Amino acid sequence: MLWSGWGDPARARELPEPVRALLRDLLGVRAPETPPVPLEAVRLPPVALPAALLEALGGVVGPPHVLTSPEARVRHTRGKSTPDLLRMRAGDGLDAPDAVVLPGSHEQVAELLALCARERIAVVPFGGGTSVVGGLVAARAGHAGVVALDLTRMDRLLSVDAESMLAVFQPGVRAPEAERLLAAHGLTLGHFPQSYEYATLGGFAAARSSGQASAGYGRFDDMVAGLTVATPAGTLELGRAPKSAAGPDLRQLVLGSEGAFGVITALRLRVRRAPAAKAYEGWRFASFRDGTAALRALAQEGPLPTVLRLSDETETMVGLARPDAIGGGGGAAGGCLVIAGYEGASAMAARAGTAAVLTRHGGEPLGEEPGRSWEHGRFSAPYLRDSLLDAGATVETLETAGFWAGLPRLYDAVRLALHGALGSPLVMCHVSHVYETGASLYFTVVTAQHGDPVEQWARAKEAATAAVVEAGGTVSHHHGVGRDHREAYAAELGPVGVEILRAVKNRLDPAGVLNPGVLIP
Ligand SMILES: Cc1cc2nc3c(=O)[nH]c(=O)nc-3n(C[C@H](O)[C@H](O)[C@H](O)COP(=O)(O)OP(=O)(O)OC[C@H]3O[C@@H](n4cnc5c(N)ncnc54)[C@H](O)[C@@H]3O)c2cc1C
Repeated sequence: MLWSGWGDPARARELPEPVRALLRDLLGVRAPETPPVPLEAVRLPPVALPAALLEALGGVVGPPHVLTSPEARVRHTRGKSTPDLLRMRAGDGLDAPDAVVLPGSHEQVAELLALCARERIAVVPFGGGTSVVGGLVAARAGHAGVVALDLTRMDRLLSVDAESMLAVFQPGVRAPEAERLLAAHGLTLGHFPQSYEYATLGGFAAARSSGQASAGYGRFDDMVAGLTVATPAGTLELGRAPKSAAGPDLRQLVLGSEGAFGVITALRLRVRRAPAAKAYEGWRFASFRDGTAALRALAQEGPLPTVLRLSDETETMVGLARPDAIGGGGGAAGGCLVIAGYEGASAMAARAGTAAVLTRHGGEPLGEEPGRSWEHGRFSAPYLRDSLLDAGATVETLETAGFWAGLPRLYDAVRLALHGALGSPLVMCHVSHVYETGASLYFTVVTAQHGDPVEQWARAKEAATAAVVEAGGTVSHHHGVGRDHREAYAAELGPVGVEILRAVKNRLDPAGVLNPGVLIP
């Protein structure tokens, strides 16, 4: 993983000339005055933890699994939001942990938490490091130091129960490896977020992730049948039956808790048979409104395909749903592109039914070429972000969800807020997660940089968040809360809700060492 960008540097993307022209002529983007710094030039705070505490940490996990090298610290600084990348490119590593600690078992995690609680060392659970909401920066004040608890040594598939269709994993398994391990059993998880290549199963659960095939396989939290969680107060074992009426479901307290209540050390996940057949296709709708009506009909009446994504007019024009063909036209000229994907026998059997609903709502079939193009480029958009940053543009995403009746207002409000804050940005949007009662909206914003780009985006994000709240949306459909959405999340919960979170935190983590500053105000 590129320390100041996304993914394998060998897969860096050149911007096609039409995109360069669009940046230059339409958005007024100018090349940045200063290039990104090399890793050696990143400014890091001195290691605050004394040698005796570093030794004590090594006593739990083994000395080779406690890292204090500048490179290890840089690679565990913040996450992968655009402001995170802009800061790293400018050489600001001031949020770096003092050390990176790599446990190998649940017992080691439990022992580390006891040690850190005793010594007041802040602990940031670290999976793939792909958080885009500031979920990986601990508040240092009042702590002896900060450690990143890197879980990627815990990378095993522990068991498969093919009868119940369940698999138990350690938390540090990255998504492609999980699919590889399950494929040997003819199974799949079906969780394919855009961060698929690097994010981990523990991170998906901790941040309530949702993948591109959520219409067919569900959100990640739908897949979690059980969790093992290490906390400073002891171990939680959650989820002993497919459904239960035995009181509130405490799994829901851990899902989305972003390391503030405990460290997920094992996950029992619902799996599916690996699909023998897959097909993806494109449809054109005259407008975003028509396309939204078609998606609502599918979500409420069925049959739902496995993948369902609707780009608005601007996103279709730019071609963002097909990043590998970007700049070459969106494939649904003058309208909105829908990608529908069918994975497995039952989705394939329902394909004609899905097509009938899309046709009834004014959809025009575009065949499989746009679908193949989407499939080919489905994980490549983040690479494009690095190229846009190199060219001097700021590109960032934000997402929300709302009920169907309020979706048009939510869409308009966010766009208006972004235009108000940024002048004339390019604002694109798509719907890619649908439910009977509503859907998510995912915005991608490209803008010229004026002044400090981190500040510039912070103001735009603030305006967009205020618009989301005002228009009745949730502050996050799948990115989570972190530090960035903490205040808006608190407003969403109300004062009693926040008190409940604080009470749980105080009981499980009385020393307040688990990811301090994240999730709870
Ligand atoms: C380019 C890009 C595309 C993305 N696309 C999507 C997308 O399509 N869908 C989506 O849902 N998200 C997406 N994300 C966001 C991100 O990938 C998800 O939030 C993902 O769930 C994070 O997983 P991770 O392993 O990287 O966790 P990290 O980023 O390492 O951690 C996320 C949070 O969970 C905590 N945590 C991590 N592991 C554990 C654990 N075992 N126990 C307790 N707490 C833990 C961390 O402390 C942190 O607060 C994207 C991010 C990027 C950069």
